[in-house]
Amino acid sequence: RELYKVDQWGLGYFSINEHGNICVQAASDSPHKIDLKKLIDELNKRKIHMPVLIRFMDILRDRIAQLSNAFNHAIEDNEYEGKYLPLFPIKVNQERDVVTSMLEHGKEFGLGLEAGSKAELLIVLAMTTDLKTPIVCNGYKDREFVSLVGMAHQMGKTIFPVIENYEELETFIAYYKETGIMPRLGLRIKLSTRGVGKWAKTGGDASKFGLRVPEVLRAIERLKEENLLHALNLLHFHIGSQVTKIKVVKQAIVETMRVFVEVVRLGAKLDYLDIGGGLGVDYDGSSRESHSTINYSLREYAGDIVYRVKQICQENGIPVPNLLSESGRFLAAHYSLMVTNVPAISSIRPCGLDFPKPEKGYGPVKEMFDILPTISKDNFSECYHDAVQYRSEALSLFNLGYLTLPERAYMEEVYWQIMRRVHEISRQTGIQTPEIEDLESELSDTYFANFSLFQSLPDSWAIDQLFPIMPIHRLNEEPDRLGTVVDLTCDSDGVIDQYIGEDGPRPSMMLHSINNGDHYYIGIFMIGAYQETLGELHNLFGDTHAVQIRIQGDNQYKIENLIKGDTIHQVLNYVSFNRGELLHKMRDQIEQAVDDGRLDLEESAKLMGLYEEGFYGYTYFEE
Ligand code: PLP
Repeated sequence: RELYKVDQWGLGYFSINEHGNICVQAASDSPHKIDLKKLIDELNKRKIHMPVLIRFMDILRDRIAQLSNAFNHAIEDNEYEGKYLPLFPIKVNQERDVVTSMLEHGKEFGLGLEAGSKAELLIVLAMTTDLKTPIVCNGYKDREFVSLVGMAHQMGKTIFPVIENYEELETFIAYYKETGIMPRLGLRIKLSTRGVGKWAKTGGDASKFGLRVPEVLRAIERLKEENLLHALNLLHFHIGSQVTKIKVVKQAIVETMRVFVEVVRLGAKLDYLDIGGGLGVDYDGSSRESHSTINYSLREYAGDIVYRVKQICQENGIPVPNLLSESGRFLAAHYSLMVTNVPAISSIRPCGLDFPKPEKGYGPVKEMFDILPTISKDNFSECYHDAVQYRSEALSLFNLGYLTLPERAYMEEVYWQIMRRVHEISRQTGIQTPEIEDLESELSDTYFANFSLFQSLPDSWAIDQLFPIMPIHRLNEEPDRLGTVVDLTCDSDGVIDQYIGEDGPRPSMMLHSINNGDHYYIGIFMIGAYQETLGELHNLFGDTHAVQIRIQGDNQYKIENLIKGDTIHQVLNYVSFNRGELLHKMRDQIEQAVDDGRLDLEESAKLMGLYEEGFYGYTYFEE
């Protein structure tokens, strides 16, 4: 039960019940739990088969409340005279239901939206029906973008386009000269403080977005020149996602506030500070330093920011700004998970063939055979090296034609038995060398899971991000096999190669044996941020089924929305293959096969039927 650390990363949203199944609840203090295995069984009965993405909107509500309450408490504790408003940057998850739920649940906390592109802006403009809802626009802005923002400002929306580079300011000034409209502007600054972790490049002098300090001064001069400095109301920075150390947050705030004070002194009326995203989450349940976890709590994060902003404003005798943050990962990561099944396992266990024992009194095969009974705690590292050497010699002999195929097969069986024993002793004794550590993934069984890493877990492939993965049932049983989870694509990168371990990420995880015909379900958790829309169609595995669940009582839930996954027909359309044309070409070939006598009429009808039916199937493995 402790193996997968669900009580740590699950934050009370996920836990294990008395049946050994994962259950889900809307908040750690919520009275109702949903048994995930039971839910999957019921989805199967509804013919919603794996893989399936499950969205718990109740969790989104709790995340917004947690974030807002943390800042509101800090505001109260520090007698801060501004307010805090959370923004949801929709790039993190643009799904309609996510955006509408954010707005619905975030209303009482004044939640707004952030848009980073024209397409996102169109969503945001239409969905924010309350004029008070704050909107922040990041990303590069062309003339059309600027006009849309200008008109939205004119109609009374609380919209802040953020100047990301100096040229954008000129576009806004040109627009003003033509129309007389100037929205309230924000300015993104480039800090010399760099983030930490996988997204560190977002911050620092060489970062893609923001104005360097000399450009900030130039922008202020230019606005003054046009008599428009009053429009500059917001300062923004973002040093990268998943900031793992609080020290960096503190440095970034201090550096920003020094700029803030000077910009106010130069005459701008800055009443908003947008601290961007970066608030991290714990993906691996450990307290150890890593990219997957953070060394601070939400309370500490909010407290430090509010305290420092107030302190620097007070020191300099200026009013405190209202605070905005764009904490997308924090808000969305926990709300969705994917469940997949395991159609097959492969392993390098002894395959049960009866091999002839080596007869010769010497030679690498015989030597290898002799190692097996002698391995002990005292000599296992030496045995490892000897076995590697004998294997290499045996392979040379095989290539030169001096070893028969059964001899080679026998040698390999013995070799892997030795490796298993070596690995076992190394785990028992805790004595490891890098080469023996590498054995772990070589020895583990391969669990073929019914999903595509590229479609459903793109950051695992692209940036080696670790996500919590574990079976969702049988958690009262001791798992007995070391496994790695691979996907269905025929790409050797389609492998999950990092798992939660006792003290840090491991290359494999403990899983259960599966008897013939058993269903084994694996959950991949915390995929609500970035994964749902970054995914792509590698091998033409399309969108999975997605269900939206509302928790209503113990094991009582309502399916609020069900979006069927892509059919093969749909994914073929994405790559411009037309069903009619493919059917036509296939029919021609089948007719030819009938004419040539390779198929009879019955077989030809059967093949054509199968082919036609294929277009309407799920792109994933169907049982
Ligand atoms: N704001 C901006 C400008 C971003 O680029 C990002 C993403 O990196 C975010 C907010 C969201 O960050 P996070 O998901 O870490 O909260």
